[in-house]
Amino acid sequence: MQEKEELSKILVVDDEKINIDVLVGLLKPYYRTVVAKDGMQALKRLETQPLPDLILLDIIMPGMNGYEVCIKIKDNPATRDIPVIFITGKHEEDDEARGFWVGAVDYITKPFSPLIALSRVKNHIELKRRGDMLERLAGLDGLTGIPNRRQFDQFLNAEWKRSLRYNRSFSLIFIDIDFFKLFNDHYGHTKGDECLKKVAHSIFNAAPRTEDLTARYGGEEFACILPETGNEGALKVARRIIESVRALKVPHVQSKIADYVTISVGLATASQPLGRALNLVSLADKAVYQAKEKGRNQIVNFNDIEQLIIRYHASR
Ligand code: GH3
Ligand code: MG
Ligand code: MG
Repeated sequence: MQEKEELSKILVVDDEKINIDVLVGLLKPYYRTVVAKDGMQALKRLETQPLPDLILLDIIMPGMNGYEVCIKIKDNPATRDIPVIFITGKHEEDDEARGFWVGAVDYITKPFSPLIALSRVKNHIELKRRGDMLERLAGLDGLTGIPNRRQFDQFLNAEWKRSLRYNRSFSLIFIDIDFFKLFNDHYGHTKGDECLKKVAHSIFNAAPRTEDLTARYGGEEFACILPETGNEGALKVARRIIESVRALKVPHVQSKIADYVTISVGLATASQPLGRALNLVSLADKAVYQAKEKGRNQIVNFNDIEQLIIRYHASR
């Protein structure tokens, strides 16, 4: 038998006490449960650690409804990966489709069979656990299948050290999808995820050298590490990347700058590597920020070793 501390934690959100009692009674022998009686309280609970491993969410509640709560959960990077199961009296096909559309993993209608509800909860917790483990082991991002942030950090440190040792130029490309929150708001999270996969693969294919590494850096952010690559070569890759995403022509009617999904790209090259790799990361990050400021859907190129040296001395 597992220790109580190791049990997975489930957040039950429902405005009716009777429903909460039934669900908590059902789950208690196997899980730790926390309850919230409305959407606001649920979101409040998600501000503190440890976060739940799964959320059971009612739809019809006073104030914020369950769909709205789910959208907020999926919009927040800290809570986005927690599986949400709707458990509701709403039976229509449209209601259920909407549940999946806003990012739920499952939909259970009331009245429900306790045994089946429990099995579904168990399945989703187990799936999530396995997914997380595989992702960790493989260094791959679960959604897109390309390297994850962890692999990015490791590769960056190792390659940066090499470039310091041999004094070889080193380039970094950061990428951020434009107006992606509006994309999700308009098309839903499932389409958002599909879009992320497409963009990830086109970026990945645009930097095909085996010495390079393309990773999902965070939510809708990607990064390419280009060891032994000068600014001219890296700029070619950056152009290929921005073009390949434009060529996908993923419709984005909410974008303020184009009809299709676009990206902002920041490139930073250290021709004479110095100091810490993090300096180059913050330069590339700054370049993306400038690309956004200048109107998005463009590349900002920092080929400025001076800045890098200044930052290096400032950070010592
Ligand atoms: P900007 O052009 O300034 O970058 O605007 P933005 O809306 O892209 O930027 P913001 O940082 O405000 O929002 C990023 C959004 O990306 C928030 C979230 O909805 C979405 N997002 C992040 N990760 C995922 C994910 O894994 N799946 C889905 N569907 N959406 C995600
Ligand atoms: Mg972003
Ligand atoms: Mg963005």
